[in-house]
Amino acid sequence: MRIIERIRKILSLDKKKKRTLILCPVCNSPGLSPISKFSGWLTPKIYRCDKCGYKGPVYLEVELDEQVKGA
Ligand SMILES: [Zn+2]
Repeated sequence: MRIIERIRKILSLDKKKKRTLILCPVCNSPGLSPISKFSGWLTPKIYRCDKCGYKGPVYLEVELDEQVKGA
């Protein structure tokens, strides 16, 4: 799955409405979900990847056009 390439292509098209997508820095999977044990005010927000099990505060953030669905 080369989703990052698709996203790059999307980003180069136009930038009227922005929507962000969070990707795993390890496997580039979009299945990253925040773990908010402490609601993020004492510790940095930690994200967990459903795909590879990565856990950490680092993530890739990309902006998507609104017309992209299910990315
Ligand atoms: Zn991952």
